[in-house]
Amino acid sequence: MAFSQLFPFVSLVLGLIMPLSASSSPETYRQYCPEPYYDYSDGPFGPANWGNLHPSWRLCGDGNSQSPVAINESEAFLNASSVLETFYHSAIVERHDDHAVEIVRRCGGGALYWNSEGPYYVLNMHWHTPSEHTINGVRFPLEGHIVHVGPNGEILVIGILYEIGTKDNLLASILNWTCPFGVITLKNVTSSYYNYMGSLTTPPCTEGLTWIVLEKTNTVSQEQVDSIISYQGYNSRPLQPLNGRIIYKVEDDIYIKSKDTFVDVE
Ligand SMILES: [Zn+2]
Repeated sequence: MAFSQLFPFVSLVLGLIMPLSASSSPETYRQYCPEPYYDYSDGPFGPANWGNLHPSWRLCGDGNSQSPVAINESEAFLNASSVLETFYHSAIVERHDDHAVEIVRRCGGGALYWNSEGPYYVLNMHWHTPSEHTINGVRFPLEGHIVHVGPNGEILVIGILYEIGTKDNLLASILNWTCPFGVITLKNVTSSYYNYMGSLTTPPCTEGLTWIVLEKTNTVSQEQVDSIISYQGYNSRPLQPLNGRIIYKVEDDIYIKSKDTFVDVE
């Protein structure tokens, strides 16, 4: 998750002035970005050293509830009490490519409720190649993050994993835009999912985030993955230790039962 997601309007202005590519050097990056440069290399700006690049980024190095994590179904606890309700609708968004191909909400987009709390409004969606989370030891070619912000500034992210197959229509639309703006509609969530407490997967690696990683995968064509890599390079943070955290699984049938009791669902 990019730091800029917490400051979408700053990013938005920067995006209008000078879209940055993944190949930006530390020098050109500093010229346009207020935060320090970081990348995904094995070098001095890579993930192993993020915690030392800025005092406010120390959690990247010494946090104890960091993301992403390895999800294993056999170790997940079934949770019958969580209720996730998404109310997405069409949104005008701006696309900009910084550390990730990212769309930022300009108008609309909808919101979700998590255990009756909310609304958590959609802030943006972006993609990581390859996936950051793994499920049962499998790393996927692509992972999408829909970032939401709650009433008190809480961040909740929905992670969507992609397998190679039929092209993804949302990405096809976004990648084909000839101008920075477009209209998208996110699909409402209807899948079983995993839930745990974690962090931003990019500096400043802020903790206390609610993660919801969908069990059902989307498909994406290899050409689309190649296209995204051409924009952003590889931007997947290595797996972080669980340190005793519990990963919950919410099954689809529980979700549907819960949905029946939820107010104003459809
Ligand atoms: Zn992300």
